[in-house]
This record gives sequence, C-alpha cells and structure tokens, in this order.
Amino acid sequence: MALIIDGVAVAKKLRSELAAQIAAEKLAPGLAVVIVGEDPASQVYVRNKARAAEETGITSWTHRLPADATQEQLLALVAQLNNDGAVHGILVQLPLPKHIDAQTIIAAIDPDKDVDGFHPVNAGRLSLGLPCFVPCTPQGCMILLREAVTKTAGKRALVVGRSNIVGKPVAQLLLQADCTVTIAHSRTHDLVAECRSADILIAAIGKPEFVKGDWVKEGAVVIDVGINRVANPENPEKGKLVGDVEFAAAAERAAAITPVPGGVGPMTIACLLKNTVQSARMRI
Ligand code: NDP
Repeated sequence: MALIIDGVAVAKKLRSELAAQIAAEKLAPGLAVVIVGEDPASQVYVRNKARAAEETGITSWTHRLPADATQEQLLALVAQLNNDGAVHGILVQLPLPKHIDAQTIIAAIDPDKDVDGFHPVNAGRLSLGLPCFVPCTPQGCMILLREAVTKTAGKRALVVGRSNIVGKPVAQLLLQADCTVTIAHSRTHDLVAECRSADILIAAIGKPEFVKGDWVKEGAVVIDVGINRVANPENPEKGKLVGDVEFAAAAERAAAITPVPGGVGPMTIACLLKNTVQSARMRI
C-alpha cells in the first residue's frame, strides 16, 4: 500500500513557516485578488485564498467586478494595483468572461507582482532556469513529490497534460530536478505504455479517474492534480471530488500517491502565499 502524501499537513506546515518568516522579517505582504463575474467555483477559490492569506499574516484585498465589466475596466484596475506600493501580489482569478482576453490581462500585470507566475516574463524565466515566480500548482506538486522522493535525478517523469498553468511548468520543474521528462497529451499514442514506464507520474488532465490503477508502474510516485466533481449517491446535491487517477487501484501499486481532495489542492494556495511573501521580500 502506497504512502498517502498528506497535502493538507504539508500546506499547513508551509503556511506556518511563512507566518513565522513574516513576523521575524517584519514583512507586510499584500495580495490583491481580482474576480470578474459570479462563477461559483471561482467565488469559493477567491474566498479561500483571502482567508488563507489573512490567517498567514498577509493583507488581502478582493476586487469584484461585474460579469459585464469591460476589458478596459479590468486593465485600469490592474494598472492601479501595479502602481500600489502596498500590493506585492496580483492575482486575476481565471477563467475570465469570454469577452475579456485572459492573455492580454496577464501580460498587463507587473511581472514583479505576478504571484501566479503566468506572465510571459515569468514563464520565460522559468524555462531558462532563472529566478521567477513559479506557478503555484506546479510548485506544490514538486514540494509533495519531495515528500516521497529525495533523489529525482535520472528518474523517468511523465506529465499527462500540457496546459500553461500546470502541465508545461511542472515539466520544466521536473527537468530542473534532473528527471528525464515526457509530456503526454490528447494526441499521445499509447498513453498506457508511457504511464507504465514512469517512475514519477503527474496527472493534470481534468478527467475523473482517467489514469487506471494498472497503468501505474510498481513503486512509482503519483501526483494527481485533477479536481473533478462526480455524482455521489450518498450526497446527490454536492457529489464528490475525485482526481484524474483511479486512486484506490493506483495506491495498490504506487510507492506514494496524493489523494483528492487533500493532495495538490491545498498546496496551490500555500504556494500562492509563498510567492506573495517572496514578492514582499524583494521590495524591502
Ligand atoms: P486543461 O484542460 O487546460 O488541460 C488538460 C490537458 O489534459 C490538456 O493538455 C489535454 O491535452 C490533456 N488531455 C485531455 N484529454 C486527454 C487524454 N485523453 N489523454 C491524454 N491527455 C489528455 O486543464 P488544466 O491543466 O488547467 O487542469 C487539469 C486538471 O487539474 C483539472 O482537473 C483541473 O481542475 C485541475 N487543477 C487543479 C489545481 C489544483 O489546485 N489542484 C489547479 C489547476 C488545475 P491537449 O492539450 O492535447 O488537449
């Protein structure tokens, strides 16, 4: 039976380390979160981010714009936050309404306040191995991976998914950790064989329990990024959350695995706070 990597505990430890650093270094980090529209999942994420920030000693401001706000209005708010010295981190919650171009908004954020690490400057710096804001979910994946593997050099790592926010940056981080990295996606031939040869398997697909337990190599470490809500007869209203990996069967073969919920999810917010503290420190 695999080691179940406890993302809740690791995230809690990271948040308390950040709180201690903020106090010891007399930092006054500030995080501005911008949300456009009423998407219920985004509302929950934004509330959770604001609460976690406050609990860690980070001042947070939530800016709410209506769903019909124009791109110009959002750009004006971003410009205002770029120029606000109390704001060290700016996060624009995605997805944005269709009439707003997310790339234009991300590119307008000051790269030195881009605590999501999505700005082209930070993405470029990451790929060059230069200091940057590392995107939060990939950063969280790597911290959890290190809970289970100390020596990553030479390991075969497979990332399933090639999104800009998870797949590509986590692949960069695995490369920096000296893994031999493969990125799989919807056009990959024989995904099963790719999975079966991976010492480290990172699933960021967005399809419930897509990676079957018997695709997992014996002794592999599995990091499941997926968050999928599926039907639950025991709770028809809420359903339940599952990852992209068939957890129980995969745990029979893996050396270590992250659960969903309670794995990568909590790490994403903790790493956002870490990036905000890093930004505040850069400005002393
Ligand atoms: P995207 O939809 O942007 O990307 C999904 C990727 O999966 C794509 O690259 C796609 O390939 C690939 N894919 C889809 N179908 C297949 C298939 N049949 N075989 C192989 N690859 C496939 O998703 P995200 O990266 O944004 O998110 C992935 C998951 O992670 C989601 O469940 C999301 O909710 C979750 N997530 C969790 C976070 C957390 O905090 N834990 C944070 C962010 C995301 P192609 O490019 O060819 O279409």
